Amino acid sequence: MSQMKELSIPSRILMGPGPSDVAPAVLQAMAYPLLGHLDPAFLTIMNDNMEQLRVVFGTKNRLTVPMSGTGSAGMETAMANVLEPGDSIIIGVCGVFGQRMVDVAQRCGATVHVVEAPWGEEIRADQIREALDKNGPVKAVAVVHAETSTGVWQPLAEIGRLAHEHGALFVVDAVTSLGGIPVDVDANEIDVCYSGTQKCISAPPGLAPVTFNEKAADMLRNRKTKVQSWYLDLGMIQSYWGSERLYHHTAPISMNYALREALRLILEEGLENCHKRHETMGRALQDGLEAMGLTLTVREEVRLPQLTTVNILAGADDAAVRTQLLEDFGIEIGGGLGVFKGKIWRIGLLGHSCQAKNVVLLLSALENILKKQG
Ligand SMILES: *Cc1c(COP(=O)(O)O)cnc(C)c1O
Repeated sequence: MSQMKELSIPSRILMGPGPSDVAPAVLQAMAYPLLGHLDPAFLTIMNDNMEQLRVVFGTKNRLTVPMSGTGSAGMETAMANVLEPGDSIIIGVCGVFGQRMVDVAQRCGATVHVVEAPWGEEIRADQIREALDKNGPVKAVAVVHAETSTGVWQPLAEIGRLAHEHGALFVVDAVTSLGGIPVDVDANEIDVCYSGTQKCISAPPGLAPVTFNEKAADMLRNRKTKVQSWYLDLGMIQSYWGSERLYHHTAPISMNYALREALRLILEEGLENCHKRHETMGRALQDGLEAMGLTLTVREEVRLPQLTTVNILAGADDAAVRTQLLEDFGIEIGGGLGVFKGKIWRIGLLGHSCQAKNVVLLLSALENILKKQG
């Protein structure tokens, strides 16, 4: 093998569905020397992260920790710890991430009742009510708060209320919502919630914050079977993150530095201001796209500000436009997934990527490219 050249990374503006750009301070945090995973200085950082995550999640839940792994590890943590073989769960599916939840829940040995809505629309509460009435007692009802494959903002309150009326836990995927739009775990009576670091939290991919309330933690303690995943078993994870400080697996040290700094930046800005920024920039981008004659995929009432989906103009070459954005302007946006492949673009204004200069640059770059393509 010939000698490798030194690592060189091209300059990019990340405006796809994740990962998002990361603030310089967060990158710097990762360059600090490593600490041992039981070093008192690292234990303090773990406490800082749990404390800051509670604020960002809007919860007092004691069991609030960043799991090792990306957002999907958060999803597996939720499903593997909530579900035992033979349990039933209702899952709302109107995009890729709802589908992924179904797959994960089935792998946990659960019977899954799927409630579907067309892509680009939200799950309606009356659909959940019908499924609850029809399928008898279920362990949980799960929905995706911000469906990144479609750009839909799923309303939560009514579905949570219905789940609780039927004695089910309310499980919410907040991977793309946390930090971008209000999640308010306690106010929305969410029992189990998980997220990821590389969307609106704007740290590199690698940790999955999760939070379980007391009811969910009780259920965890009263399980009849072991959690099928050793790595994601929250009972054991809690023994490390809680007061016992029992070794389970080595915490991703540098990632926890990054998360601490990323959360600190959000709280320094103020969580509400951070949401406001996403709302304002998202609106500006969406207005700009419409002014160019493009049509948005999702109707306004349930449209996310941080992840905009736009219909690809008839005659425009999907792949060529995205390649040109990357090569000529250094901008990454996302293509469509699944049903929407080749039909939409997905433009993210997630966390640190959510800046006025990025909105202006993207709009003019896109206009420039589309004009050239005729
Ligand atoms: C990105 C995403 C995930 C998966 O996260 P990974 O970090 O890619 O594992 C899950 N749910 C939603 C809604 C997402 O946007």
